[in-house]
Amino acid sequence: MMKYLKNVVTLQYEKTKCKGCKKCLDVCPSRVFGFIDKKAYIIDRNLCIECGACEKNCPHGALKVDSGVGCAAAQIYSLITGKEPTCGCDGEESSGCC
Ligand code: SF4
Ligand code: SF4
Repeated sequence: MMKYLKNVVTLQYEKTKCKGCKKCLDVCPSRVFGFIDKKAYIIDRNLCIECGACEKNCPHGALKVDSGVGCAAAQIYSLITGKEPTCGCDGEESSGCC
């Protein structure tokens, strides 16, 4: 699994806001999240490619990430891993899609 440089990932998670919907687990292409005691938790933040999908899909504002490189990161990740690029956005620019 590819990792960004250690400790520079901008992902922030506020556990108190999490309602346990598991959407972040569904949309994260890097499997950053696990789930325990009805809440998400971060398995390894250095796996995050800052695609922004978790922030966009969390209905309770528990996740924040600086997704400035968005789909570019997903494309690079795809090239390296040979997997389909995915950022979890819906493809609509009007909704803030990258
Ligand atoms: S999407 Fe948000 S509310 Fe849902 S499990 Fe993840 S952090 Fe919690
Ligand atoms: S920004 Fe993307 S890669 Fe990082 S935790 Fe959120 S969904 Fe996963």
